[in-house]
Amino acid sequence: MGTFLSCLSKLEGSSTEDLSPQQSQFLNALSTSHIRGKIRKIGSIDYNIDIIPWNLRCTPKPLAVVYPLNAQEVSTMVKIATKYSIPVQPRSGGHSFASYSLGGKDGALVIDLGKMNTVVVNQTTWRATIGGGARLEEVTNGLYDQGKRTIAHGICPQVGIGGHATVGGQGPLSRMYGLTLDHVVEMEVVLADGTITKTDKETNSDLFFALRGAGASFGIVTSFTFETHPVPEAVTHYSFQLTYGTHTELADIFIKWQDFVSSPIVANDRSFNSLINITSSIILIQGSRLGPKKELEASEIFVSLKKAFNVDIKTHELDWLGAVLNWTVVAVESLAGSLTIPLYMKSLCVRQSKLLTPGTVRAWFEYMHTNSPKDALWVIIGAINIKFGFVKKVPYDRYLTGDLQGGRISDFPLDSTAYSLRDSMTETLVPLIPNTLWPKQYWGDNYPRLLDIKKKYDPTNTFSNPQSVGANLRLPPKPAFRVKDSKPVLNL
Ligand SMILES: Cc1cc2nc3c(=O)[nH]c(=O)nc-3n(C[C@H](O)[C@H](O)[C@H](O)COP(=O)(O)OP(=O)(O)OC[C@H]3O[C@@H](n4cnc5c(N)ncnc54)[C@H](O)[C@@H]3O)c2cc1C
Repeated sequence: MGTFLSCLSKLEGSSTEDLSPQQSQFLNALSTSHIRGKIRKIGSIDYNIDIIPWNLRCTPKPLAVVYPLNAQEVSTMVKIATKYSIPVQPRSGGHSFASYSLGGKDGALVIDLGKMNTVVVNQTTWRATIGGGARLEEVTNGLYDQGKRTIAHGICPQVGIGGHATVGGQGPLSRMYGLTLDHVVEMEVVLADGTITKTDKETNSDLFFALRGAGASFGIVTSFTFETHPVPEAVTHYSFQLTYGTHTELADIFIKWQDFVSSPIVANDRSFNSLINITSSIILIQGSRLGPKKELEASEIFVSLKKAFNVDIKTHELDWLGAVLNWTVVAVESLAGSLTIPLYMKSLCVRQSKLLTPGTVRAWFEYMHTNSPKDALWVIIGAINIKFGFVKKVPYDRYLTGDLQGGRISDFPLDSTAYSLRDSMTETLVPLIPNTLWPKQYWGDNYPRLLDIKKKYDPTNTFSNPQSVGANLRLPPKPAFRVKDSKPVLNL
C-alpha cells in the first residue's frame, strides 16, 4: 500500500516545484478560504486520484480540485481564482471528451459540483430544480420518485447534468421533447466576479442564451430549473442483428439504414428512435418507440423496417424505469460509460437535407478499413443531424454507433440558444481543428454574439478552456523569425 501511495505522489506533473509565485500565492489563499468543502491541491496524494479523467488521452494537471457544498462556497472559490488570474472550470460528471472539466490544459482550478446534486420537483408546477453536480442517474430517479416525471437526456447514467445541460443533451426522448438544454427555464449561476445571480428568458436573457450551449465559458451553473414531462406509460424496444463480410457490404447496410431513418414515415413519428451499432463483423440495429408493443408492431414504420432489412424483429414492452435501464445497457455496451480509457474522438453531424451520399459512405468505410491504426484505440463520433454516433477502433475491433435524432430538436431556431448544431455539420476535439474553424463549428452564427456576452460577464476570461468562447482570439504571439536551412527567415 505504501509503495502504491508513494507511486501516486510521484505521478508526472503532480509536484509543486514548477509553480509560479502567483500560482503558489493562489494555493495559499485557497487554504485560508475556510470553506467547508474539501480542497485538494497539486502535490497531495488524493489530488492524483481526483484528477483521473474519463478520457485518459487528455490528462491536464489542474492546480487544485475543490468540492464546495453550496453556491456561496463556489463564489468564494471563483473570487480567489479571479484575483490571481487562475482559469476556472466546473466539473459535474467529468465526462468531457477532452477533459475540459479539468481545465483542458495545466494550471486551472477545478470546482467539482458533486456535493450539489439534489433533485427537487415542485408538486404544483412540475418544474424540477436540480443541483449542477447531479448525475443523470440521480436525475432519472429523482424525477421519477417525485411524481413520475422526466426530461429528455442522454443514456449514460454517469454523465453530469452540468456538462449535459450546458452543452446540449441528446437522448431517446429528444425527438419528442428536444435537448436537455431546451428544458431549462431558469438557472442559478456564479459569475467571474463571484456574484450569485439568476437567469431566465427575462432576467439576464443574454446570459440565459449563452449558458445554454456555451456554459463553461460564462459561469458555473449551481442549479438548473427544468420543465418536466410525465413519463411515458410504456416504451417498446426493438432489435435485430445483421452480419457482413467486407467493408463494402458494411457501407451498403449503413446506407440502407440512413435511407430508412431519413424517410418521411420516420421523420413524422417523433416517438420512434433508432440506433445502429457496428462492430467488426456484426451490426445491431435497435431502438424504441414510446407506447405499447402492439402499437409499434402495427405501425407503418415497423413494416417498413422489416421490409428494408428483410428480417424478423424482436420487440419487448417495458415500463419507464425498465426502458431507461435498457438504454443504459446499450450505452454501457457501446461506450463503456463508467470506464476511463484513452480515446481519440471525432464527430460529424449532417443535415437531413444533405445526407451522406452512397459514394461518401463507401469512401468513409474504405478509409476506416485501410487507415485504422492496428495498435491504437480510437473513436469517431458521427452524427447525421438525425443520427448521433461513435466509431471506436480497438486492437481487435471497430465500433460505430449511429443514433436517430432530429424531431423536436430541429424545431428551435438556431439562434434561440448558443447551441447551434440542431441542423448543421461539425467536427470536435482539440487540437486537430484549426483555430479559425472550431468556433464556427460549435456555435455557428451565434459566435459573434457570444463574444460580446463574454466581454460583459467574464471580461478577464476566468472561465476558460482550450475551446472556450474567445480562446481562438488569444493565440500566443507569432515569433517574428523562424529558422529555415539554418538561416533566420522573417515570418510574414
Ligand atoms: C460515456 C459517455 C456517454 C455519453 N452519452 C451521451 C448521450 O447519450 N447524449 C449526449 O447528448 N451526450 C452524451 N455524452 C456527452 C456528454 O453529454 C458531454 O460530454 C457532457 O458535457 C458531459 O457532462 P459532464 O457534466 O459529465 O462533464 P464535465 O466534464 O463535468 O463537464 C463538461 C464541460 O461542461 C462544463 N460544466 C460542467 N458543469 C457545469 C456547470 N454546472 N456550469 C457550467 N459549466 C459546466 C465543464 O467545465 C466542462 O467544460 C456522453 C459522454 C460520454 C463520455
